[in-house]
Amino acid sequence: MIPSILPTYSRAPLTFVKGEGSWLIEADGRRFLDLGAGIAVNALGHAHPKLVAALTDQAQALWHTSNLYHIPAQQKLADMLVEKTFADTAFFTNSGTEACELAVKMTRKYWYEKGQPDRTEIIAFNGSFHGRSAAGIAAAGSEKMTKGFGPLLAGFTHLPFGDLDALKAAASAQTAAIIVEPVLGEGGIVPLSEAFLQGLREVCDTYGILMILDEVQCGMGRTGRLFAHEYSGVTPDIMMVAKGIGGGFPLGCVLATEQAASGMTAGSHGSTYGGNPLACAVGCAVMEEIATDAFLAEVNRKAGMFRQKLEGLVASNPDVFEEVRGVGLMLGLKCKVPNTDVVNAGYGAGLLTVPAADNMIRLLPALNIPDEDITAAADLLTKTAESLV
Ligand SMILES: *Cc1c(COP(=O)(O)O)cnc(C)c1O
Repeated sequence: MIPSILPTYSRAPLTFVKGEGSWLIEADGRRFLDLGAGIAVNALGHAHPKLVAALTDQAQALWHTSNLYHIPAQQKLADMLVEKTFADTAFFTNSGTEACELAVKMTRKYWYEKGQPDRTEIIAFNGSFHGRSAAGIAAAGSEKMTKGFGPLLAGFTHLPFGDLDALKAAASAQTAAIIVEPVLGEGGIVPLSEAFLQGLREVCDTYGILMILDEVQCGMGRTGRLFAHEYSGVTPDIMMVAKGIGGGFPLGCVLATEQAASGMTAGSHGSTYGGNPLACAVGCAVMEEIATDAFLAEVNRKAGMFRQKLEGLVASNPDVFEEVRGVGLMLGLKCKVPNTDVVNAGYGAGLLTVPAADNMIRLLPALNIPDEDITAAADLLTKTAESLV
């Protein structure tokens, strides 16, 4: 008999009832150090007092109004994002994949309004993840996600990840947009080089192609910059954001330049819940915490500390781990044993990590993880590795 929850997940035998900072607690009191953070969602850890206050204050006042009316928290969040990024405008969604849908619609409408309605080809990269909606799976293109779900949304071409020569060869005046994650998340924690992002921007400028960055996982301070692309000095035309921006409340957004967004006029897109008062009250509190130089400097300091410990861990456990990859607090360990064995052994040690492609485990702690919890993470990873040999 089918379970009452559609069985699309094979879940770990863990049930958490409470969260405190970087820790999750089971009903029997067992504590787990959370290095998954809901897959880079709980950017400020669990039960952050400012986020709890923002949510409960808004809940007392007003939960939801339609986007038929003005929503002050949404306006405030949009203003903050526009001030801190390349973007001129924001549209709020409930998830990353909805941001992908809009990025694709915005691209198509842009070329339609420019009198090139057939300019619909979007170049994407193998190993990417853009969500589970029709546009998301077509954009990522992997057989794992698309098999059985055809016919897929048309118009996507796939290239090897990070291959600038292939990109130069494939791009043309028929290309509508290029979409890429600055740091592959699900694909195994692979940062794109500065040179690739700069080359990508050049290719886009040559043909007028829209550059779409998917910063759903690597954005919102995760890499030690507010958004990951900032290290390259170039900016996109459209950017997808979600995960960390809601700190655990469902929230995403598409950020865009005025030019890229020019086709999206009244009535061309919408969302019932997207950018509702509860979500945006929390989103504002998250931005107020994360989008400061002092906070991001701390992320970088913590990242340096964690990385050093991870390099030591790899050196001391060469039978289990091969290398450390990543940037900021978007880190991963390439495993020599099956990554799922490491994740499962972590559960035994009281540690939560997340698997990714290329036999990686992902370490995506809360961005404000206390130093002593970084030390605890290294100790629990050592314990995990030792339990495997
Ligand atoms: C998680 C993720 C998505 C999809 O976000 P959802 O909120 O699950 O729809 C899209 N792109 C990237 C890079 C992601 O990590």
